Amino acid sequence: MAELVYNQQGRLLFTEEMKQEYTLLMPQMLPVHFTMLKRVFEMQGFQVDMLTTTHRAIVDEGLKYVHNDTCYPALLVIGQLIDAVKSGKYDPHKVALLITQTGGGCRASNYIHLLRKALKRAGYDYIPVISVNLSGLEKNPGFRLDLKMVLKMAYSMIYGDILVNVANQCRPYELMEGETDRRIEKWVNRLVEDFPQRGAFKRNHVIDNFNAIVDDFASIPLHRTNKPRVGVVGEIYIKYAPLGNNNLEDFLRGEGCEPVVPGIMDFIIFKCDNRVEDHRIYGGKTATYIGASFLKKYCEGLQRDMIAAIARHPEFRPPCTFAHLKSLVKDYLGYGNKMGEGWLLTGEMLELIDSGTVNIVCTQPFGCLPNHVVGKGMVRRIKEKHPQSNIVCVDYDPGATRINQENRIKLMLSNAKLAQKKQAAHTVPAVQTGDGELSVPISGAGPAQTDTVQGAV
Ligand code: SF4
Repeated sequence: MAELVYNQQGRLLFTEEMKQEYTLLMPQMLPVHFTMLKRVFEMQGFQVDMLTTTHRAIVDEGLKYVHNDTCYPALLVIGQLIDAVKSGKYDPHKVALLITQTGGGCRASNYIHLLRKALKRAGYDYIPVISVNLSGLEKNPGFRLDLKMVLKMAYSMIYGDILVNVANQCRPYELMEGETDRRIEKWVNRLVEDFPQRGAFKRNHVIDNFNAIVDDFASIPLHRTNKPRVGVVGEIYIKYAPLGNNNLEDFLRGEGCEPVVPGIMDFIIFKCDNRVEDHRIYGGKTATYIGASFLKKYCEGLQRDMIAAIARHPEFRPPCTFAHLKSLVKDYLGYGNKMGEGWLLTGEMLELIDSGTVNIVCTQPFGCLPNHVVGKGMVRRIKEKHPQSNIVCVDYDPGATRINQENRIKLMLSNAKLAQKKQAAHTVPAVQTGDGELSVPISGAGPAQTDTVQGAV
């Protein structure tokens, strides 16, 4: 069995020897993107298990080992990892835990310390914890991120974004149930197998892949009907993770809506932009400024190529560019506002409204001060300027019942559906199509907010 090795500060390391014997347990945040990440780690020779559990015991484990003042995503992620270790499925002496560290000023940088503390209290202090970060925060001899691996991880994010974007626009209307998910699986396999090939990250090759993905999803047989579009924004974990938001996207689809979820590329570019803005506002190292500016430009170029590929098919709505999103926030918040999701959260709400998706669920975890400022705290101002917006802020915490959360969302949806009916009846003439059916354009727009929903915010 692999020997336990500690560094000078007493941190248990993940060694080369452990790489041969151990299973890495990783939490899931974005189902498609993280499936690709898992495959990337496996290609590097790691045994990986991505945790997709959602049962109540996860919250209870979190409450047992994490201080109850800690923000809810930390409680969930740590509870899920400890629950998996205790499940009996793994030999606790042969697992290591993977957790991300953002390196920013928010608590997400410190989850790793909370996790180690929780493991110690639970009697598992012999389990190594591996930090996945690009800031050089913690290093392990058995888990090194070289340039090739970073590229594969980065491209998993952009490919994940394009897959999720077009899939979300197909799934609610598909004629053959499960066809969208089958295409996602096919593309995830194909793209990950493509990563080690020569030229896999050359621009022309990536553009070809983008175009092929969109063409493939455009060929899914659909019956497009006039469903209300609902945007999902909020703290990054709660917004994306089915465990965090109680399967919000499935719930919205079940209610007859099309969920619209902003991609993660905006968050990655936002992180680079933060460094550039820091330099503008406070000064600092020129090398950091140059590096961040280069990375930002590179990611923005990729995002533009993705948008161009989606825009080739008029039935799909591409996301806007990061530059446009940033410009929308100008009259609302300063660009130095970067804790949590910072100004990006406000920007995502504004971008959704700007692109016609006026119904929005803003997911807010317990204990998340920064996102209450840039999320819930900005709703009144957004509504003043965009009276047609229909926003509901939903709290997620260990004591909140799913039924309560869903009832609040249903209240918002009833207004969305009413608004859509009125719009269809009064402002948009129905069009007789060639096959004799009546059709109205798909839109998320609606009339001014009613008192009922304002009360719900
Ligand atoms: S953004 Fe909010 S939930 Fe996420 S780590 Fe920071 S405080 Fe916690």
